Amino acid sequence: MEPLLASSLPQKDLKLLQCKIIHKEWFTPKIVRLRFDEPHIAKLSNPGQFINIKVTDNYVPLLRRPFSIHRVDRENGWFEILFKVIGMGTQALAQHEVGARLDILGPLGNSFKILSQNDSAILIAGGLGIAPLLFLAQELVQSKISATLFYGNRSKDEVCTVKDFDELGVAHFLATEDGSAGLKGRVTELVAAKKNMVVQSNSMIYACGPNPMLQRIKEMMEKMNKVCQVSLETLMACGFGVCLGCVVNSTSASNPYKYVCKDGPVFYTSEIDLRE
Ligand SMILES: Cc1cc2nc3c(=O)[nH]c(=O)nc-3n(C[C@H](O)[C@H](O)[C@H](O)COP(=O)(O)OP(=O)(O)OC[C@H]3O[C@@H](n4cnc5c(N)ncnc54)[C@H](O)[C@@H]3O)c2cc1C
Repeated sequence: MEPLLASSLPQKDLKLLQCKIIHKEWFTPKIVRLRFDEPHIAKLSNPGQFINIKVTDNYVPLLRRPFSIHRVDRENGWFEILFKVIGMGTQALAQHEVGARLDILGPLGNSFKILSQNDSAILIAGGLGIAPLLFLAQELVQSKISATLFYGNRSKDEVCTVKDFDELGVAHFLATEDGSAGLKGRVTELVAAKKNMVVQSNSMIYACGPNPMLQRIKEMMEKMNKVCQVSLETLMACGFGVCLGCVVNSTSASNPYKYVCKDGPVFYTSEIDLRE
């Protein structure tokens, strides 16, 4: 496979970078956070954008793996990703230690819109859907928009990064399917139980998680006439609109498909149809 040439990259600010890991933190035996020393991504990325990582220095696995930009420190020039080990690529990625340099393409994709008319925000995360929402929370707080997080997991062991939201002053509500923390049940049930108390007339809703969860949030919020932005984590290969592997159904008859990598990963729920 030909190496990717920086001059052929389609997006402004997009760069191929060699990024050094400067911190590694395990939350569970499968969930890890890596911090990279990389001022370009730290300064120029926006919440919702992602990077594509070559996880080994050989061609196995062949394809890069996409990860949301999880948190940035613009002043000190670093950014982080948070991910779960699920297969070959994430397994290889998790084995890199502090000091290793990885080949990273980014920042990719569009971003969450933060609008001045919304003075409150509801953040809804299912599992690793929490990853892009910390960076979003950082920017909301910076823009003086108050945020509340609803966060669902299978069990208390998988709940991570809540402390970082607390430090930003973002209130949170938890749900776990086994009842070991917060409400027993899914995050959608938690939102349903609290929405009238927390969602305000000018709240923007932001969500990331599995598609069935996002579809349920879309239905719930549309009934309340709320505008909702979701970040999708559809399987993808190239990451910038060439392979067209990451298609989702759109709600527009004239343009029936959207590509998560180049049209997204963030969409208004009015634009897409996530029904199975
Ligand atoms: C824009 C974007 C942002 C993402 N951000 C994050 C993030 O911040 N943190 C994180 O943990 N993950 C994130 N993901 C998902 C992550 O890219 C995949 O988990 C990773 O590519 C899996 O690689 P693997 O080689 O370990 O697994 P594979 O061996 O490729 O897959 C293992 C199994 O997981 C399934 N799988 C792989 N990727 C996905 C996916 N995206 N959705 C559903 N099932 C999948 C496969 O079908 C297979 O069954 C993101 C994906 C996208 C598209």
